[in-house]
Amino acid sequence: MATNRTFTMLKPDAVEKGHIGAILEKISASGFRIVAMKLTQMTKNDAETFYAIHNQRPFFGELVEYMTRGPIVAAILEKDNAVEDFRTLIGATNPADAAEGTIRKLFAASISENAVHGSDSDENAAIEGAFHFSGREMF
Ligand code: UDP
Ligand code: MG
Repeated sequence: MATNRTFTMLKPDAVEKGHIGAILEKISASGFRIVAMKLTQMTKNDAETFYAIHNQRPFFGELVEYMTRGPIVAAILEKDNAVEDFRTLIGATNPADAAEGTIRKLFAASISENAVHGSDSDENAAIEGAFHFSGREMF
């Protein structure tokens, strides 16, 4: 898989609050091309699998509950240096620590309900993209 792609989810809180359009506008304005995109809802099993790396953390149950409570927008994005540049665009996990102008600073409520996901490596971007999309949903 090319290393110029990342995977994102606009999480249930962002969708509930009507922030899909504003967040996508920021993503596009920051130079990311949409390779794949859909509105979908994760099952409990999906969320437990997607976030398996965190399954021993104290917040795991809450995280699964949150990520399955409503629809998300899942997307694959393309840009040079996509993984790192997208992490910069979204800001720190805790919006209280996120830089001004970042998506989490603008749209996240808390460290748990933080509006967006961004892959943390090229390897995980490929795994996470393939978790949500088939080859013929990627453009
Ligand atoms: N999370 C949480 N409490 C924490 C840390 C993380 O609820 O103390 C949630 C939050 O939604 C976060 C997700 O678990 O986005 C995954 O955590 P990670 O450390 O991978 O943060 P991210 O990569 O999303 O910035
Ligand atoms: Mg992470």
